[in-house]
Amino acid sequence: MTDAVRVPAWRARVLTLFPEMFPGPLGHSLAGRALERGDWRLEVMDIRSFALDKHRSVDDTPFGGGPGMVMRPDVVDAALAAAMQPDADMASVGAVSAGPAIYFSPRGRVLDQALVKELVREPGCVMLCGRYEGLDERVIEARGLMEVSLGDFVLSGGEVAALALMDAVVRLIPGVMGAAETLDEESFERGLLEYPHYTRPAVWRGRPVPEVLLSGHHEKINAWRRRQAEDVTRLRRPDLWAAYEKRAEKDKA
Ligand code: SAH
Repeated sequence: MTDAVRVPAWRARVLTLFPEMFPGPLGHSLAGRALERGDWRLEVMDIRSFALDKHRSVDDTPFGGGPGMVMRPDVVDAALAAAMQPDADMASVGAVSAGPAIYFSPRGRVLDQALVKELVREPGCVMLCGRYEGLDERVIEARGLMEVSLGDFVLSGGEVAALALMDAVVRLIPGVMGAAETLDEESFERGLLEYPHYTRPAVWRGRPVPEVLLSGHHEKINAWRRRQAEDVTRLRRPDLWAAYEKRAEKDKA
C-alpha cells in the first residue's frame, strides 16, 4: 500500500567509461547510508556498452586535426536515449523524463548551491561524464544538454564532477542529514559564507574560544555569528557580498 503512494527516490543516472569509479566516496558516511536505505538511487551505465562496432570504439580522431580523441556522437546519443527514459516508478508519478541531462564541461555553468537546489527538486538527473578531449558538439546541441562545470580548471574526466554534484544534492534530500537546522545555517544558504566553529577544549595552545560563545546568551551568540558571517563574506567573496547587499536593500524597499 505505502509503496503505491511513495514518491520515487531521487535518482542519479551516470553515463561513464569508468563505471567502477561509482559509488566511490558516495558509498560511505551519510550519502552511503542514504543509498543503502533507498533515500536516493544511483544507476551507472557504461557508455561502452552502447558502442556500435565490434571493436566497441567510443572515440575517434578530431576532424580538423589536433591532439587527442573525441567521443563519438552516435555512441553517446544511444547511451543518452536509454538514460533519459523515465522508468516505471518515475512514470507512475507523471515524470516524462529522468530529469535534466547534464554534460560536465569546463565551458558550462559553474555548479553552485542554487543549481544544486534546483536539481534536488527534479525526479533525478542524467549525468554524462566526458573523457579524452570531450564530446562531439553535435550531440550536445541535439540533446539540449545542460553543460555544468565544477570550476575554472581542467579535470581528466567528468566523473569527479558527477560525484561532487551528487554529494551536494544528496545531502539536501529530506532525512539524509541529521537536523534540518544544520542546513539552514550553512554557507550560501542566506547568501553568506558560514561563521567560524569552535569545540572543546575552551582554551587550546593559548587560544581561547570567543567569549560570547560561552555566555549561553542565544541572541548575542546569533548576532555575533551573523556579524562573523558578514565579515568573512565581505573579505573573501566580494561577489557574494555585493549580491547579498543588493538583496538586503530590495527587502527594505
Ligand atoms: N578539451 C577540454 C577538456 C577535456 S577534459 C577543454 O579544454 O575544455 C575531459 C573531460 O573532463 C571533459 O569532457 C569533461 O567531461 C570533464 N571535465 C574537465 N574539466 C571539467 C570541469 N572543470 N568541470 C566539469 N567537467 C570537467
